[in-house]
Amino acid sequence: MRQLKQLKKQILSLLQIKKYQWLVSLLLFVTPFAILFPAEPAFISYSINSHVNDTLKQITIKINSISRILQDKKLINKLNFDCKTDDIALLSSQDFNPLYVRVIQLELSNGEKCSNFGSAIIKNMSPAIFVAEHNFTLASTVSHQSQRRETILVQFHGGHRLLTVINSRLLNNYLDSECADCYQLKYSVPGLPIMIRGEQELQQKNHHYSTSSHYSNKDYSITLHAGDRLYEELEEEVDVYLYISSFIIAILLNIMFWSWCSSRASLKGMIIAALNNNEFIPHYQPVINSKTGKVIGQEVLIRWQLKDKSLIPPGQFIPYAEENNLIIAITDNLLEQVYQDLSELTGWVSINIVAKHLEQGLLSPWLKDRDNELIKRLSFELTEREQIKQFKEAESEIQLISQFCNGVKLDDFGTGYGGFSYLQKLGVQSIKIDKMFIDTIGTDDLKCSVLDAIITFGHKANLEMVAEGVETKVQVDYLAGKGINLIQGFYYAQPMAKAELIDFYRKNKQ
Ligand code: C2E
Ligand code: CA
Ligand code: CA
Repeated sequence: MRQLKQLKKQILSLLQIKKYQWLVSLLLFVTPFAILFPAEPAFISYSINSHVNDTLKQITIKINSISRILQDKKLINKLNFDCKTDDIALLSSQDFNPLYVRVIQLELSNGEKCSNFGSAIIKNMSPAIFVAEHNFTLASTVSHQSQRRETILVQFHGGHRLLTVINSRLLNNYLDSECADCYQLKYSVPGLPIMIRGEQELQQKNHHYSTSSHYSNKDYSITLHAGDRLYEELEEEVDVYLYISSFIIAILLNIMFWSWCSSRASLKGMIIAALNNNEFIPHYQPVINSKTGKVIGQEVLIRWQLKDKSLIPPGQFIPYAEENNLIIAITDNLLEQVYQDLSELTGWVSINIVAKHLEQGLLSPWLKDRDNELIKRLSFELTEREQIKQFKEAESEIQLISQFCNGVKLDDFGTGYGGFSYLQKLGVQSIKIDKMFIDTIGTDDLKCSVLDAIITFGHKANLEMVAEGVETKVQVDYLAGKGINLIQGFYYAQPMAKAELIDFYRKNKQ
């Protein structure tokens, strides 16, 4: 009857968690949007900066590579430097006049001039300035056609000069790569008028970005500017990326969350089913008095026995059961089985409980209805790892149950919350010294001195002490030397099913 009630409570709490799940799912869905979208301006800035830097890098690489081609000596040596038909034909040929050259003009030392158009085109050239870093000599002119200022690469061959005007359309390809009027490019060579490419009168009302390449102590620089137009252009692009990535993250988070929920929900369902099918069974690990070698009691350690008889250790489901309010029903179920076994067991039988058992007084009503003779050998182990919140209630439950049974032991002593204060506040008279400390015996681990301190305190406080997880004779001997004779551990016996335990008793008596 009580189990049915418990089951009902559990199903209800499962439903409540389900209600939460939708809320969490919704939160996980909106969170990526809520986190990513406020960062939109930062993403746009980042995107603009990287666009501006990339574009300038490409432009600079292009200008450098063109300049190198134009200074190719082999090509220049083909010229006769007489401005006759052959020279003009050569200047108009693909070799001298590829796509990126608008005008190429030869000026002879005798004052004669010719170009790829035949007669001279460049008439009003500014003084030529040498850019040391790149071995360029640059000048500028104003185009007849567009009235724009253009850069001229000037090369000297003997007393002759070769002037090349790079086709600005070539750079326009880069400047228009995002949108028309997105970029403005400025060349600045000290001594030359500043040359500007890119139509845009930059509106720098809200957003302005620029990046520069400086050469030879800043005497020559190329600067690329961008403003509101590029901001608007990239804003749309960034928004699309943000929507898509937020959506993908939201979906991934939801997939992870729901698969986690379903695995948890199914573990919960499996535990409830296992309770109904009596799949939780007690194993017993004897506690031996090392002086006499005799069994003086045992701890009940739960096992989940599956249909194929394989056993799941408690570490795999007890923490989950404790977290999800299933532990009470599991302990009830185990207690009933242990109660049935009690008459066949020797010495005390200790069963693990949780704080809630004491805080809510769940043990005393059960004990009251049982055979007094049997249950006086029953004791309980409360792990110190869990925090007790209602001391008063816990203490009075301990007092109450101590009238019927063998009392309460403080488990895993020294590893958790309460330690000595739990002993005082709860009035517990028995402790189990954790394996963590036993393992330090024979080592120079600092915790070994903690073990000694616990033992000294235990003797002074007249506590019953059980050493847990004892695996070697060295440990047994060390503990015996310190007056600890109640030993639980693989050195004497592993946890085992009841039938094996009875067999163990038999051999132990011989
Ligand atoms: P615990 O209460 O500290 O139990 C002692 C654990 O140490 C047991 O692991 C036992 O098999 C293991 N052990 C004993 N001697 C040795 C040894 O010499 N060497 C080594 N390596 N291990 C040793 P087990 O059975 O896997 O149980 C793990 C934990 O699960 C228990 O630790 C206890 O906290 C919890 N547990 C087991 N049954 C129950 C239960 O019915 N209710 C609750 N609430 N917790 C339980
Ligand atoms: Ca225990
Ligand atoms: Ca323990």
